[in-house]
Amino acid sequence: MAFKWKSVFDVSAIKSDFEVAGLNPNFIPQIWKHVLKNPDCRWDDIPSLPSAAYHLLDSKFKPSTSTVHAAIDSSDLVTTKLLIKLQNGEFVEAVVMRYDTRLGKYDGKPRLGGPRSTLCVSSQVGCKMGCNFCATGSMGFKSNLTSGEILEQLVHASRISAIRNVVFMGMGEPLNNYSAVVDAIRAMTAFPFQLSPKKITLSTVGIIHGINKLQKDMPNLNLAVSLHAPVQEIRCQIMPAARAFPLERLMNALREYQTTSQQKILIEYIMLDAVNDEEQHAHQLGKLLETLQSVVNLIPFNPIGSLSCYSTSDGQKVIKFQKILRGTYNIRTTIRKQMGQDISGACGQLVIKKPDILTDIEDLQEIEQNKIVLL
Ligand code: SF4
Repeated sequence: MAFKWKSVFDVSAIKSDFEVAGLNPNFIPQIWKHVLKNPDCRWDDIPSLPSAAYHLLDSKFKPSTSTVHAAIDSSDLVTTKLLIKLQNGEFVEAVVMRYDTRLGKYDGKPRLGGPRSTLCVSSQVGCKMGCNFCATGSMGFKSNLTSGEILEQLVHASRISAIRNVVFMGMGEPLNNYSAVVDAIRAMTAFPFQLSPKKITLSTVGIIHGINKLQKDMPNLNLAVSLHAPVQEIRCQIMPAARAFPLERLMNALREYQTTSQQKILIEYIMLDAVNDEEQHAHQLGKLLETLQSVVNLIPFNPIGSLSCYSTSDGQKVIKFQKILRGTYNIRTTIRKQMGQDISGACGQLVIKKPDILTDIEDLQEIEQNKIVLL
């Protein structure tokens, strides 16, 4: 279904319409800057545009095609979940996490840095990958977001907090919506957003051709991989889409990506009782990751209503798993902290993965900048 209005942040739409109208695309960042500062602006409030640009904006574009339907703060006010309504009536989630690096301690010393916010964005409504521990997976696939709808999540969030990091870990598999995601990331790293590519993390279940393409298109991006199992058989059991992406080929793609990016890869591993959390699995994972520079994040599974076909691993088992990876294989391994749980009961993948992952990502990005040392 085609909608009358396009988002002014829809990168390909506004660029092609400017080109067709013979307008200089250099005006686009200027328009974005004005909209960022003036959410309810009228196009003729923007100074110094050619008259054809006002006509084009008036007839085809809106400053925002989505609206914040609800903003829910956690009780500690650290986390805010935005429920965003799209033009097609569907909803996606975005999560803002305010984070003060001075509050934590690493290696007995205060952490460097200061207050900052991380935004977790969605790239699709629903998801076709069908991971059977994931709430979004149970929705099936509904639609891809445009680059404008992805950027609008950043625009909405920027109005409640200064966003320094963006993670693509919300609803959807970002590499299944490749061009819109890459367009959005390119815009995020340019004026007026100007985020560092090293402050943007894309999380994938392991779409090999997408990782290979990303390596060429966006080599500076942080990559996170939802591995969740050390062998293909278990991966296929909990993530049916993994059948198309054999583990050996995935690891080759990750090593190649790392050769270009020179950055550690975040390995996400959800701990499912008696499925992937035994000592032998820790050793298998350790061996699998021996030739990759990685940070492993162990995620205690959080059962959710009728989706709970799995159980939470015993806490001691998780610690034992971590000890094996650290002690035997010298792999940096963290256990996800639980944060913002009081607001994560609504819908979508964020229920399982977010917002607690945001601190893990902060840690990864700090490691990349050699600012801190994880214990
Ligand atoms: S975990 Fe990610 S890839 Fe898997 S179903 Fe959920 S949203 Fe999709």
